Amino acid sequence: MATGLLFRDDAYLKTASARVVAVHERGIELDRTIFYPQGGGQAGDTGVLRRSDGGQILIANTCKGDAIDSVVHVPAPDMPRLEVGETLALEIDWERRYALMRLHTALHVMSCVVVAPVTGGNIAPDRARLDFDIDMSLLDARKIEQGMAELIARGAATETVWITDAELDARPELVKTMSVQPPRGSGRVRLLRIPDIDLQPCGGTHVGNIGEIGDVRVLKIRSEGRRNKRVEIALGSK
Ligand SMILES: [Zn+2]
Repeated sequence: MATGLLFRDDAYLKTASARVVAVHERGIELDRTIFYPQGGGQAGDTGVLRRSDGGQILIANTCKGDAIDSVVHVPAPDMPRLEVGETLALEIDWERRYALMRLHTALHVMSCVVVAPVTGGNIAPDRARLDFDIDMSLLDARKIEQGMAELIARGAATETVWITDAELDARPELVKTMSVQPPRGSGRVRLLRIPDIDLQPCGGTHVGNIGEIGDVRVLKIRSEGRRNKRVEIALGSK
């Protein structure tokens, strides 16, 4: 069944309460959650579910379930089994998630500095990358760092915008990622807008202001194939 996706409206929620609605071989489903399920290139959240008796269930990963907008919390090995109907206190590993939010938003900024079709991407807690269909000679680490720093220095607030599937179909130029098409089927698509910088479909978690990204450095630029020139970044200055 569908899970209330609290992180969609507020990516800064670190704690919440929720009720167990299903326990199965893949993991635990709740009526609502602050845990982001792995998807769109962004790693799933980790954290802890606390029972009313003080017991804890460590969550090693979060994945999408079978139904649209359903979320499966994957427990670490040998955790006690929860009962359907139990109320739990949820807590995500915030330090890890905040790094993911900063890196994820940084990739949106990078896609406006490197102007080329995006053929892949991934966001881990310590590094993130985009693959571009571009000539290697056009990728320069210092220029990418400088271009990103200039945009990040604008300190623009990010906004979430919803449009219908039909509106998105009418504006195919919004989709930069050739490999990851926005999820369809719920009738509407979520966009991230960075005013005067970027607008594209995205279901991930982002910082509220791009100034929160801070310094970004390019770790690596390498070819991963004819149409995949990979730029990998990390947070923090050298
Ligand atoms: Zn995004």
